[in-house]
Amino acid sequence: MAEKRKFKKRYCKYCAEKVEFIDYKDVDSYKHSLSERYKIMPRRLTGNCKRHQDMVADAIKKARQIALVPYVVDRKSVVLTSYEPYDKK
Ligand SMILES: [Zn+2]
Repeated sequence: MAEKRKFKKRYCKYCAEKVEFIDYKDVDSYKHSLSERYKIMPRRLTGNCKRHQDMVADAIKKARQIALVPYVVDRKSVVLTSYEPYDKK
């Protein structure tokens, strides 16, 4: 396989679960849309649909304001797995 892909199949996880609202307080519900540097993953990688990607982006931005999700991550605290709680170092 010449092409290396992190995400095999593209489908919207939220549509599959029929999610109508993404709670910004529930980090688990959008953690797969966060990169190891806590950036919002682009839609082309996660496979979210436009509607849900907007909801996820909105939730993450709100979560950042109340410090559930960090804005920036320095080199030492970059996590290698997709998501770990922020205060665990
Ligand atoms: Zn969707």
